[in-house]
Amino acid sequence: MTGTPTYAAPTGIAEATALLTQAQDPAVLSGGTMLVPEMSHRTRRPDLVLDLRNARLSGVRVEADTLTIGAATTYRQVLDTTLPGGGAALAVLQTVARGITGGPQIRNRGTVGGSAAWANPSSDVPGLLVGLDATIRVDGAGGHRLIAAQDWVTGAFRTARAPAEILTGITAPTRPRHRFGYVKFKLAESSWPIVTATCLASPVGNVVLSVGGAFERPLRLSLAGVPADLPERELRTLLAEQIAAADPTPWTDVLADGAYRARISPVIAARAVQQALAKDPNSGEEPWTSN
Ligand SMILES: Cc1cc2nc3c(=O)[nH]c(=O)nc-3n(C[C@H](O)[C@H](O)[C@H](O)COP(=O)(O)OP(=O)(O)OC[C@H]3O[C@@H](n4cnc5c(N)ncnc54)[C@H](O)[C@@H]3O)c2cc1C
Repeated sequence: MTGTPTYAAPTGIAEATALLTQAQDPAVLSGGTMLVPEMSHRTRRPDLVLDLRNARLSGVRVEADTLTIGAATTYRQVLDTTLPGGGAALAVLQTVARGITGGPQIRNRGTVGGSAAWANPSSDVPGLLVGLDATIRVDGAGGHRLIAAQDWVTGAFRTARAPAEILTGITAPTRPRHRFGYVKFKLAESSWPIVTATCLASPVGNVVLSVGGAFERPLRLSLAGVPADLPERELRTLLAEQIAAADPTPWTDVLADGAYRARISPVIAARAVQQALAKDPNSGEEPWTSN
């Protein structure tokens, strides 16, 4: 496409998906922190820009034991959420939102759904969603599909979403009794992540862990009944074995090469596990940790 794209800001999903099916190379616009620079550099030249601003897709809700995040929810909205009952899931999401680099501009404009749809291996969100055992909803003209976060990213910058589908929302179990750890390793305060690790630990030490940034697709690991006092060296060895067994494809970009990322991923993962296991659930302390 060489001309000026058509712009539309539909007020609902049905209208949005109908417009998408009529376009040849549509682009969904959420916060625009990635899409707008791409269009400015002319590396992306869609025939339709479908702006989600009026589609009522932003906001965070807690119902029963489920956290729901609208696709167009900004990091700022996540941080401003004061809902009770969000459990470890909301706490770790807020930790991630707080740590997004780029300052207030990116936190005010960038969205959780935009990051999930972008599927940059170096982003925080894809790995986080795997660690939360989240489910991603996409809507198309034929209805909606629910996709497990583990199956969402199919490769670097690739997802299970079809071009005429919109990511509309994300749900995750709140995990009210779990504790969490989130560790992000980066070169400098202003740089993007090199490796991230999200860990949720149940009261009896069952641990679900995801590693992001290091591989083309986030990696999900689980450890049953890990003792809180397991020496760090043994924990790293255990995690290194699990990562090697999964044989993920390392991710290389300008920040770090894949071999380096793969080598440090057990170290970062072990730190997240230690954070999650650090506090005694019977101590009366706030049961979640943050980095
Ligand atoms: C300076 C800077 C620092 C940053 N730091 C970090 C960081 O530390 N960690 C991190 O993880 N990220 C970081 N980011 C990336 C940021 O997280 C993402 O830019 C943001 O979350 C993307 O959301 P957006 O709404 O702006 O996406 P957009 O730019 O609107 O869209 C991104 C892509 O996803 C598609 N898309 C968006 N929404 C949907 C949808 N609902 N359905 C289907 N497709 C959709 C668009 O078409 C586009 O291809 C940074 C970005 C910048 C510019």
